Amino acid sequence: QMAALIESDTPVASWPENWFRVGNHIRKEGLLLSESFEPGSALKSMRGRNRDQLLEAITASGLKGRGGAGFSTGMKWQFCRDAESTTRYVVCNADEGEPGTFKDRILLNSHADEVFEGMTICGHIIGATQGYLYLRGEYRYLLDALNTTLQRRRDAGLLGANILGEGIDFDIAIVVGAGAYICGEESALIESMEQKPGIPRIRPPFPVTCGFRNQPTVVNNVETLAAAANIILRGHEWFETRGTWQSRGSKLLSVSGDCARPGIYEVAFGVTIEDILHDCGATDVQAVQVGGPSGSLVGPDKFSHCIAFEDIATGGSFMIFNHTRDLLDIIGKFTRFFAHESCGFCTPCRVGTTLLNNGMQKICSGHGTAHDVDELARTAALVSRRSHCGLGITAANPIRDGLKHFPQLFEARLLHQEMEPEFNLDASLA
Ligand code: NAD
Ligand code: SF4
Repeated sequence: QMAALIESDTPVASWPENWFRVGNHIRKEGLLLSESFEPGSALKSMRGRNRDQLLEAITASGLKGRGGAGFSTGMKWQFCRDAESTTRYVVCNADEGEPGTFKDRILLNSHADEVFEGMTICGHIIGATQGYLYLRGEYRYLLDALNTTLQRRRDAGLLGANILGEGIDFDIAIVVGAGAYICGEESALIESMEQKPGIPRIRPPFPVTCGFRNQPTVVNNVETLAAAANIILRGHEWFETRGTWQSRGSKLLSVSGDCARPGIYEVAFGVTIEDILHDCGATDVQAVQVGGPSGSLVGPDKFSHCIAFEDIATGGSFMIFNHTRDLLDIIGKFTRFFAHESCGFCTPCRVGTTLLNNGMQKICSGHGTAHDVDELARTAALVSRRSHCGLGITAANPIRDGLKHFPQLFEARLLHQEMEPEFNLDASLA
């Protein structure tokens, strides 16, 4: 149940003496990153199995989407395969934009073959001949290396026409985003791929039936596709050796903030927050933002909880804040981020995130009253309930979690230093 440091994003001057010993031990726990992967090995392992059997392997593994939502990958591929059309697409969502998340960058950097192989396998199973990797605009610097990998795969017969002489046709192109957070939302991403503004579509229909160019499309996170390639290669039993029954396998976490050893960790699902904090050397912890600003802000009373879809789910962000941090200010910054990134399409989010931002700035600067907190809670509930897409639905999470778990911080910053009698947190959050 411990975490594996695979690659540190931040140079750490002095590593604990036993770090690599711990790392070596953990290697056994890691699944995705600790295994070596021979390009083409997963594709070759498909020989002798038909599409139904391959899909069955993905379904049996229990693999769930690693972007954060945790939808069954086998079911998604099946829906797409069953949708009526002669043209289907595979899209890898590499628009990793959640603040504090940088695990896909490492996969694209050093495990691109697994990702491309996962896309090719998906294409074969669902009957697609074209795939796209939608690369976050800020990751443009990875473009040349990724294109080189794609060309190397074409030269080796692992991509293009008649892959490995097996009659499989599939190729991959890379589309670079332009820096909008909302384009990580799958339907906005598809709009962006179609050269339109990144405004989320109404779902349903989901992309599996009506996606890119209105054709059935599988959109999967980078980590999900890399895991799928390994499942086909090593078998679903291998995958199931880690994790919990409802959250099988391992999860990559981007650990950052106030700890001695920030970096990318691979953990078995079911690991507690406490264990992760111990492994990364976080000794003084006020709160952890799990899953980025759109996820959950948790305090010490929840550190015994697990990283799992059935407990605390995360797309991969794990930000640690010690007691010197002004948590209210952090909540304010997250709120400003959402107000800035709102695409403006629907009123609850366009207006609501701005109101939330204004309210938070007022409270943070010490000019807020209990009435402002009440208003903030009410607006937060409205924005969460009435917004059109995931951005708006989760934009108020930092405020709502803050009010729920750290109400004393709000109270201490108020103009009169106390909540007025009319303030009723429970009623506001109802
Ligand atoms: P969602 O639950 O609506 O959908 C998840 C996936 O399942 C989608 O691909 C969707 O098409 C599919 N799906 C859901 N129901 C379906 C159905 N009935 N039929 C067919 N397909 C179906 O979640 P979402 O709004 O796409 O994503 C939200 C998640 O993204 C959040 O959990 C959040 O944590 C995460 N997120 C991640 C990042 C990041 O950088 N990785 C950034 C922002 C948000
Ligand atoms: Fe755009 Fe926000 Fe509405 Fe989503 S919720 S469609 S980001 S305005």
